[in-house]
Amino acid sequence: MVPSPSRLEILGCPLDRVTMAQTLDTLRGYLQTDRFHLVVTIGSEMIVRAQTDHEFREAVQGAALVVPDSIGAVLAARYGGFPVRERVTGVELTQKMAQQMGPALRIFFLGGAPGVAEEAAHRLLNIGPGIHVAGTQDGYFKDDAAIVEKIKASGANVLLVALGFPRQELWLSRYGAACGVQVGIGVGGTFDVLSGRVQRAPQVFQKLGMEWFYRLALQPSRWRRMLALPKFALRVLSGGKQAVRPVANS
Ligand code: UDP
Repeated sequence: MVPSPSRLEILGCPLDRVTMAQTLDTLRGYLQTDRFHLVVTIGSEMIVRAQTDHEFREAVQGAALVVPDSIGAVLAARYGGFPVRERVTGVELTQKMAQQMGPALRIFFLGGAPGVAEEAAHRLLNIGPGIHVAGTQDGYFKDDAAIVEKIKASGANVLLVALGFPRQELWLSRYGAACGVQVGIGVGGTFDVLSGRVQRAPQVFQKLGMEWFYRLALQPSRWRRMLALPKFALRVLSGGKQAVRPVANS
């Protein structure tokens, strides 16, 4: 079993205090095994969702690795006295994985509007020569069993799922093992960014922890989702240090 790095719980949701480099090392380890590992890229909105959605919370709690995707998760960990070094976002993780682990990867891209997964795969090939694109599938399918068969037959070892949360984590938790992959990562809007359909915030916004604001300005329809952010902050602050606790390594 690959050892799990030091883990926290934020409002009952796991968060592993890993850097990008440690995440990549952990993934390399997973690829040496013959079993499925769910990787969650967690953000504040997801932690708020997990407070009321038990199925989603269980899926996240069952993950092998939960990396700090959002600034909210990073700040909460720091507030609790257990700082994490950096964000590990779905987009960057996908890019770094392709750059640094290229030939070891047979990736299946699941999710996004029709054509987006293909475009994302194509772009990723440019930065990660040597990766093998095992297959692609848009995120507007009905028959889960048929998709599982398609992924299994593709011989993929890594499954990137961009269906948005909570669906991507639930899907991976239910079907990841049956797909025959060693690693399944919920990557949210990553294919939209890789394919060039959605712009990531400029570095300055990212550095200031204001990427959410930039995304809101570009996609005002996200405002309802943003209501989770103050909710998250209030819950963490009102829960005091108890809201963020270390978990013994399993
Ligand atoms: N999506 C999908 N099938 C669906 C609903 C959404 O494939 O039934 C895709 C959507 O096209 C987008 C992604 O899921 O590419 C979710 O992106 P979002 O920006 O909401 O994710 P976030 O990174 O904010 O979690």
